[in-house]
Order: sequence, then C-alpha cells, then structure tokens
Amino acid sequence: RTDQLVVYYQPKIDLDTGEVHSVEALVRWEHPIRGLLYPDSFLHLVEEFGLMPTLTRVVLDQALDQAAAWHAQGQQLTVAVNLSASSLVDSDLPRQVASMLAARNLLPGALQLEITEEFLMADPDRARSILTQLRGTGIQISVDDYGTGYSSLSYLRDLPIDELKLDRSFIFPMADDVRAAALVASTIALAHGLGLRMVAEGVETHVAYTELAALGCDQAQGYYTSRPVPAAELDYLLRNRRSANKLTDSPPITGLG
Ligand code: C2E
Ligand code: CA
Ligand code: CA
Repeated sequence: RTDQLVVYYQPKIDLDTGEVHSVEALVRWEHPIRGLLYPDSFLHLVEEFGLMPTLTRVVLDQALDQAAAWHAQGQQLTVAVNLSASSLVDSDLPRQVASMLAARNLLPGALQLEITEEFLMADPDRARSILTQLRGTGIQISVDDYGTGYSSLSYLRDLPIDELKLDRSFIFPMADDVRAAALVASTIALAHGLGLRMVAEGVETHVAYTELAALGCDQAQGYYTSRPVPAAELDYLLRNRRSANKLTDSPPITGLG
C-alpha cells in the first residue's frame, strides 16, 4: 500500500554557518496495525518483491512535492533521496527524474541522490552512464555510507559525484580515539582535494559536532541537531530551534524562513 508510505526529513547542517540548505528524505511505513515502521524492517521485503522502483518513485514524488512547497514559501531547501543499488537496472531513471522535476517547476539543483558504494560497484559502467546522465542535468550525486564498502579509490577519481557522506561508524569513536579522529581528518582532506563536499553522518554529540567543524567538514547530520521528522515538524524546528531548545550551546540554525 503505497499510500501508507510517508517521508521524514533530517537536516544537513552547514558547519561553517549553522544554516540548513539541504535535508535527507527517509521513508517510513505508517502501518495501520503495527504503527510506524522503519526502513530496516521493510526495505528487504520491498527489494525481494521487486517493488523498489515503486518505492523510489513514491519517495521522489513526496520529496519533490515537499521541495516545491518549501520553495514556494521562499525556503530554497534541497532534498536528498536515497537510491538503492537495484535502481541501477532502471536505465529510464534519468528521464523519469527530469520529468518529475519539470512537472513541479523545480531546478535540478533542488535534488540530490544518495547512492551507496554497492550501487557503484555492482556494475560500474552502468553506474557511470546513469550517474553521468543524472548529474549532467544538474542533479547532485552523493556517496552514502562512505568508508564501509570494499571499493577502490579509483571511482572517486573517475565517477561523477559531488559529495561523500562519511559513515557514522567513523564519527562515533572520534571523540576518544586519536586514530579514529586522524582518519576522519584525512578523509575530509581527501574529499576536499578531489573537490568533493564532505558530510558527516550520525553526529550525536556536541563534541563530535565542534570537532568536525574544527576539521573543516562541510556538513553534519545526526541526532545532535535533529532526528528525522515530518515536514511540518522540520518547519517548526527550523523556525524555533533557538527558543525551543533548552541547550544554550546548541548549534544555531539560521538563514531560513
Ligand atoms: P542512511 O541513508 O544511511 O540514512 C541515515 C540513517 O541514520 C537513518 O535511518 C537515520 O534516521 C539514522 N540516523 C540519523 N542520525 C543519526 C544519529 O545521530 N545516530 C544514529 N545512530 N542514527 C542516525 P533510517 O531512517 O532508519 O534509514 C535506514 C536506512 O534505510 C537508510 O540509511 C537508507 O539506506 C535506507 N532508506 C531510508 N529511506 C530510503 C528510501 O527512501 N529509499 C531507499 N532505497 N532506502 C532508504
Ligand atoms: Ca542516505
Ligand atoms: Ca548513510
């Protein structure tokens, strides 16, 4: 039942300004009996039944509707949508996405697509062709869970991508492990050397947030600034963060609304 799928949003905060320019769309299933289900509990079934293209389309539809609504309110938020490796088989994807953007009068810059290293490695030639088409129109491409795969460094050099999202397993141990911190620092340098933006995932603490800012990481995403929430709640959060938050040292979210 695709009408039971809802999309939550989690902000990616610019570490140099505290502003939010993009949000990640994360799917939820509002099950009439079992309540709100998280993707880890149902995505494998969606995949197994061959329904991933349908799910991707439903999420893109909702996320782009929301982006259009935000733009109409004067909030130029970019939405990031996750693409599973199975989306690779769909060579019509670039055309579909282009027409979904056009139908809403959205510029391609309003959309980011998050792919995994699995997506890149399953069929590198095909991945390159689809990504080149998507990115050629102005859609941004982000590599999710960066660092967890077994892929080679060469794709960083060769593939058309804009952003790396460093997996949260690297962020968590950073605070009390100098080697973990060194790894994060050099990965940020690697990304910047290649002209890529670096986003840290799973930023849960003030310590991690300030450390990442000090290291020159571009954006942070995680429970420290916000859990994924429905769009209306995100609006509220972005508008009232300072007054609603009891912590005086919470990262500022400004520049919106
Ligand atoms: P992901 O793309 O790596 O998304 C980030 C996940 O980390 C989200 O889990 C988010 O709620 C969680 N997270 C965010 N901040 C923190 C934090 O500070 N600490 C911790 N421990 N976790 C944090 P979620 O929403 O349960 O999604 C799980 C995965 O399901 C996603 O991982 C993504 O791979 C997949 N997924 C979600 N939505 C979609 C979708 O629309 N399409 C596809 N193909 N996959 C999706
Ligand atoms: Ca993601
Ligand atoms: Ca991730």
